[in-house]
Amino acid sequence: MTQSFKKVHAVTGMKDILPDTSYQWQALEAIMHEWLAQYGYRNMRTPILEHTRLFARGIGEVTDIVEKEMYSFTDSLNGDQLTMRPEFTAGVVRAAIEHNMLYERPHRVFTMGPVFRHERPQRGRYRQFHQLSVEALGFPGPDVDAEHIIMLGRLWKKLGLNDIRLELNSLGQAHERQAHRQALVKYLEQHRDILDDDAQRRMYTNPLRVLDTKNPALQEMANNAPRLSDFLGDESLSHFQGVCDRLHEAGIQYQLNPRLVRGLDYYNLTVFEWITDRLGAQGTVCGGGRYDDLIALLGGKPAPAVGFAIGLERLLDLWLQSSDVAAPAECDVYMIHQGDAAQRRAMVLAEQLRDAGLTVIVHAGPSGFRAQFRRADASGATAAVILGGTEIENGTASVKWLRQADATAQEQQETVSQQELVMHLKAKV
Ligand code: ATP
Ligand code: MG
Repeated sequence: MTQSFKKVHAVTGMKDILPDTSYQWQALEAIMHEWLAQYGYRNMRTPILEHTRLFARGIGEVTDIVEKEMYSFTDSLNGDQLTMRPEFTAGVVRAAIEHNMLYERPHRVFTMGPVFRHERPQRGRYRQFHQLSVEALGFPGPDVDAEHIIMLGRLWKKLGLNDIRLELNSLGQAHERQAHRQALVKYLEQHRDILDDDAQRRMYTNPLRVLDTKNPALQEMANNAPRLSDFLGDESLSHFQGVCDRLHEAGIQYQLNPRLVRGLDYYNLTVFEWITDRLGAQGTVCGGGRYDDLIALLGGKPAPAVGFAIGLERLLDLWLQSSDVAAPAECDVYMIHQGDAAQRRAMVLAEQLRDAGLTVIVHAGPSGFRAQFRRADASGATAAVILGGTEIENGTASVKWLRQADATAQEQQETVSQQELVMHLKAKV
């Protein structure tokens, strides 16, 4: 007797993508692959599992991700501390260093796939979600910073999205942030009595993030805090001006947001986010910026870099709100048959049709003609090929054109010899 088995569900916050919707993902991915190729970005793929210290170092110990969102565990076989990647950049940089990728030339690369964060699931926020991460490694900018933003503008256009706005800021360099930080901590200390728990906790570890607070009671305090932009030196300012000028020349609108800091520690100079009002609270579709210190921080020879990540669930949600993405047909030709001999003949003919480049489904399972015709219709096929007793006896096949609603019943159905079937269908499908 089989023991009763408690049904298994998907892990909370992790979604199945079923065949009735996966075509939407494929359509989006196809557009993105074409777009990435237009700018010369090449694909690379890194493991889902990395050593935990990579992210602790690369993303920063006091970030949301490292403090509370990572899926980390000890490898029971050898005691290694491992983490399922919560983002791509640290892994890509690790790989670039490990394979001396930057020794001879800079690289434009992208990675796409699932990432993992232990967050409270809600619309636009999942525990397994997908990102496209684009990195330009070894380029000092500001031209490449602008290239990233301009190419994103092109993607939104390709997708027919005209209501994603761009917010832009410069974080300057480490020493400039350090001077600003001192002034900021002093300012926060003066307002200590109104700070909430989160802000109290962060004021010494990550005071910039305190300004990113969503607490309405702290908005005025945050608005009047010392601004990082007042601490930027000439080089940082001219880098930022270089980005802004190029955006202007490309006709890209942006909004300066002096409080934009991004949730990851490794950024410097340019940072940006693309935000929409059509996704509720989770409106950030894409975030990115420059991370010139990360490669050295992870043990590589110092080299500048810039990148961005798109949240694909959010982008897909947005795209489907405004575009009809048609489900593709399951096949060109659906083969219907009755009887053992016909079933076997159908399999042989189907292989010949596939040799000729057609996509073919051979009906499987014991169904009558009517049920098979219903399946053929629902498949979206252009034609059904019918093999019954008569056809097998005469060496013929009947073809029914399924998408010619205007034609007479007689025009819709024809009989051809099995030898001519491939030529006949190939010419008309
Ligand atoms: P948020 O402020 O929404 O938490 P983030 O700053 O943590 O975003 P990034 O690390 O910059 O996000 O990741 C890039 C993009 O990935 C985000 O702009 C967003 O579109 C998407 N994203 C981030 N976290 C999630 C999640 N838990 N589920 C789905 N998409 C996400
Ligand atoms: Mg987050």
